[in-house]
Amino acid sequence: MIESTPRVASSAEVVEELRRRSSFVMVSHVKPDGDTLGAGLALGIALKRLGKSVAYFQQDNVPRNLRFLPEADLVSRELPADLPADTLYVFCDMSDWRRAGEHLPPVERENMLDIDHHLGNSLFGKLNFVLESECSTGTVVMHLLRELGAPIDERIATCILATIMTDTGGFMHSNTTPEALDLAAELMRKGADKEEITTEIFLRKRVAATRLLGRIIDAMRFEHGGRYCYSFVDDAMLAQTAADGEDTEDVVNTLLGQEGVDVAALFKAIEGEIRVSLRSNGALNVAAAAQRLGGGGHFRAAGLTFDGALSDAFSAVEAALIAEGL
Ligand code: 5GP
Ligand code: MN
Repeated sequence: MIESTPRVASSAEVVEELRRRSSFVMVSHVKPDGDTLGAGLALGIALKRLGKSVAYFQQDNVPRNLRFLPEADLVSRELPADLPADTLYVFCDMSDWRRAGEHLPPVERENMLDIDHHLGNSLFGKLNFVLESECSTGTVVMHLLRELGAPIDERIATCILATIMTDTGGFMHSNTTPEALDLAAELMRKGADKEEITTEIFLRKRVAATRLLGRIIDAMRFEHGGRYCYSFVDDAMLAQTAADGEDTEDVVNTLLGQEGVDVAALFKAIEGEIRVSLRSNGALNVAAAAQRLGGGGHFRAAGLTFDGALSDAFSAVEAALIAEGL
């Protein structure tokens, strides 16, 4: 039965549900990152060890720098044909199920489990295990693995450490709590491959990506006395540098890193769509600004899709930021 007023479930309630079901689809969000993917893989691997059947759904391809994750080669945008009717769809790291993309067939709420750490999660599942104080969805999953009594092998440890390192920006962001560092240490002791995570997710850059970064930096603009920095990338810039959308993922952090900047935005006008990435150093809540335009996210990292022209996107985002105190 689904309660009329959704609330956050306890780990015991979620584990009871996990034990009751035999078939699972782990669902990642579009434009997947190491958190949505690593969280789903970690839980999926643990469930398989309990004899459950697990599929991994993700609309977009696994990004090049995440292909090293255990079982990443099993991720698909196609679901198995013979899924039982009571398959549980586990949505990881999304404040709303729509972030899974249009390719996922309709799922009844009864069969949705929502595992997340976003502010303003819409509590869309039958059960919602949302812990806003956690640094990553992977560390939220860790609570479930503990409740399950699941052994943390090196594959699971690598997946969870990848979620922590992704969402803390390699232990640089303010969500890097002592608890996150303690858990990271524990995961390393259990065999998590920190070297590989560091190399694949943070260090190795494609030359095309670096050339693209140069173009985006060239196009930087500063407003509000230099507190707001924004830039854009479009299809032409990608073509000229032989880069692709994946190569734009980190760039907004470079904009935020410029001296005097409190808020940064990168506008990505790619393949007929405008996606906006927002970052803040804590001076204002970019999730609230994104929500004004139909997006969402965290206090310091948020995003949205803008319907309209790029110049209108510039002014709409600036207006939303001003409304939130820029
Ligand atoms: P990014 O800029 O890396 O795409 O996204 C930053 C954060 O904002 C992520 O935590 C992501 O989940 C969230 N986010 C990005 N785009 C959207 C969106 O369109 N809707 C919602 N609700 N959250 C978003
Ligand atoms: Mn996350």
